[in-house]
Amino acid sequence: MKLPLYINGAFVESAATEWREVRNPATQETLCRVPFATPEEMQSAVDAARRAFLEWREVPAPQRARMITVFTNRLKEAQDELAKGLCLESGKTFADAQGDVWRGIEVCEQASNITPLLLGETLENAATRIDIASYTHPMGVFAGITPFNFPAMIPLWMFPMAVACGNSFILKPSEQDPMTPNRIAEIFDSCGFPKGLLNVVHGGVDQANFLLEHPEIKGVSFVGSAPVAQAIYRTASTNLKRVQAFAGAKNHSVILPDADRAATISALAGSACGAAGQRCMAISVGVLVGEAGAWVDDIRDAMSRLKAGPWNDPASDYGPLISAASRERVVKLIRQGAAEGAELLLDGSGFQCAACPDGNFVGPTLFDHVTPEMSVYREEIFGPVLILMRVATLEDAIALINRNPYGNGTSIFTGSGAAARKFQREIDVGQVGVNVPIPVPLPFFSFTGWRGSFYGDQHAYGKQAVRFYTETKTVMTRWFDADTTTAARPETTIRLK
Ligand code: NAD
Repeated sequence: MKLPLYINGAFVESAATEWREVRNPATQETLCRVPFATPEEMQSAVDAARRAFLEWREVPAPQRARMITVFTNRLKEAQDELAKGLCLESGKTFADAQGDVWRGIEVCEQASNITPLLLGETLENAATRIDIASYTHPMGVFAGITPFNFPAMIPLWMFPMAVACGNSFILKPSEQDPMTPNRIAEIFDSCGFPKGLLNVVHGGVDQANFLLEHPEIKGVSFVGSAPVAQAIYRTASTNLKRVQAFAGAKNHSVILPDADRAATISALAGSACGAAGQRCMAISVGVLVGEAGAWVDDIRDAMSRLKAGPWNDPASDYGPLISAASRERVVKLIRQGAAEGAELLLDGSGFQCAACPDGNFVGPTLFDHVTPEMSVYREEIFGPVLILMRVATLEDAIALINRNPYGNGTSIFTGSGAAARKFQREIDVGQVGVNVPIPVPLPFFSFTGWRGSFYGDQHAYGKQAVRFYTETKTVMTRWFDADTTTAARPETTIRLK
């Protein structure tokens, strides 16, 4: 099957000369072929989006919101079907795929309630007989470039809010699992939005660069690995675009000896290996403080009980990695970690899944006594690998985390409110969990990674997304008249002393 592009309200076969196979990562079965759109196809997406914007910006905000509500409801009706398709191309377990779809739907629910978020500000008589009002305006065509690891949620972080704010959108999904975004576009298409309001173009670096350089595109929302995020931020801002670029991560979890032992260990193992460790908010570093160092055997036991397997086996805790290349990279890093002197307590590099022997599986992997200069600490592994580090005090743990270049998420497990508050205040990371391993904010907040995990200033969803997808017009008004009202309201004679 050739995956179509979605341009100007039509699903069209690409004239591309370059195509890539999309495979089920558990079986290697080919699911479809994805095109790398031609420059002419990219340009027609931009033209369609520009035309759609001119029509859509005139639609009143409550009417836009009603249409997003229809889209949201149709996504809800299709959520299990979407999740199943997502399992096939991403390898996620069904429960995990349902979460991927649902977290996207939650952002659509917020976009369905956009109207109050678009309110401006007013001040009557801000200067003598002058009123000032500010209005939020849509900007035009936005583009989104998304990663493989959340093929439903991350596109849904972007275009529903952009469109609800009155813009049009061009999405370039990951070429590794592009079928779910196309299915979402089919659902969007069924709702009666103007043609070209959402366009889905497929491809890789060249297609991304086309969007980053095109003068008609006002802003770019990107999610992906750190080196690409830096390049995207530079190119988009050099081309004078608004940009938000969400990047990679290395998320630490601090374990104090007064934490609830069983709950902490279970949360640590689950959040390190869930989705095969391919979450930007996965906990990949456990920082054991003082006597919590004695918990290592229990952590190893909890991790060894996790089962990697196919999406439709209810016993599977997580699935395969997205590609054979990702698996090779993770296996290489595991070997490197052992060679550099980390203690390999569980080695999943040779794991083969009995039900899917050709899948890109890696078993749960645990390193102890990792130090900051080792590759397994410096690299974002993006696999089911947990590394453990030992420190003497909470202050040492905070200093370690604040020296790491990334700042996406972190958590602390403790029974002490004072320790938790100190951690929350002093940690240089944008999303903090207290006895919550993966602190992903709900959509009425924003997704607020910091430092090397984010380039830009306005984050995804919540009020920050409204600021990202709109600009403010400020109007000062004075009316001249000679009626009695004016006479009754003389200019003030009060002066500051
Ligand atoms: P990736 O950077 O390889 O690809 C992301 C997107 O960028 C894809 O659409 C890809 O086609 C495109 N791309 C790749 N190279 C490019 C280049 N040189 N120029 C322009 N575009 C390019 O990322 P991935 O492997 O798909 O996703 C995993 C990464 O995403 C991890 O590092 C993960 O931490 C990160 N991520 C971060 C967040 C966050 O919120 N911070 C969320 C999810 C994923």
